[in-house]
Amino acid sequence: VRPRAKKPIINPDFKLEDLGIGGLDEEFKDIFRRAFNSRILPPELATKLAIKHCKGLLLYGPPGTGKTLIARKLSKMLNGKEPKIVNGPEMLSKYVGQSEENIRALFKEAEAEFKQKGDDSDLHVIIFDELDSVFKQRGSARSDGTGVGDNVVNQLLSKMDGVDQLNNILVIGMTNRLDLIDSALLRPGRFEIQIEISLPDEKGRKQILLIHTNELRENGMLAADIDFDELATQTKNFTGAEIEGLCNSAKSFAISRHTKSNSIATLDILSINSMKVSRDDFLLAL
Ligand code: ATP
Repeated sequence: VRPRAKKPIINPDFKLEDLGIGGLDEEFKDIFRRAFNSRILPPELATKLAIKHCKGLLLYGPPGTGKTLIARKLSKMLNGKEPKIVNGPEMLSKYVGQSEENIRALFKEAEAEFKQKGDDSDLHVIIFDELDSVFKQRGSARSDGTGVGDNVVNQLLSKMDGVDQLNNILVIGMTNRLDLIDSALLRPGRFEIQIEISLPDEKGRKQILLIHTNELRENGMLAADIDFDELATQTKNFTGAEIEGLCNSAKSFAISRHTKSNSIATLDILSINSMKVSRDDFLLAL
């Protein structure tokens, strides 16, 4: 595998909270340490150490824990662009050969660019959501018996193995069920780095609460009685998505309090200025 010889493009001193991701510092650091050394180290060092370019990363864990969020932010950091996001079931087609063609099409642009520019080609990030729906164990009882799933797994494997020579592709796969994924996909050179994204702990929940109330805070719309430590305790077992939902419901309760007649039109400037989202709104939303 050719080590990547481009200038480093990631500043490793970034702060996760600035990216709007809470409670996942360890996981994120782990990803960086293991996957992106070839993009953080000075190119001469990466070349001398023959550091491999990581082609596949698998994020797994319960729904709503921030896997898509991480994948998008990683992509932005790596190449400044929005990634290509595809959903497993979207790849499948009832027409013979079309599912495999859909997989091939994902890699076309990156392949063409690499042919033209070699190592100077930009990194192409492909985010593959619901990976398990397509790449379940070949020949397993769960497969639909048509063999379509098997062909798609084989097509992706051949593309990722082909990427060996490419050096400009990163596929980030996501799943709620690591146990369903075809083990051939998890071997070195494929989705070789697998990271569990689990439910946030209390500290993480507080960070996520702060992130999703940040705009309210900046706009002076948060009452002083809100205790985020208390809320972090009370949101045990919440996912990041559920915490975001809680913040949205609290806003709705605050609006209901302020619009007694159910008519937004009755909100005059004075009452808007006095309106704040309070501790009670959060407790009602819980
Ligand atoms: P799924 O498995 O269902 O695809 P997911 O793990 O990819 O879920 P996301 O789609 O990333 O979860 O999360 C949904 C939303 O919840 C995010 O866009 C974000 O607003 C919020 N969220 C989830 N986790 C976090 C987090 N750790 N920090 C901040 N916000 C979060």
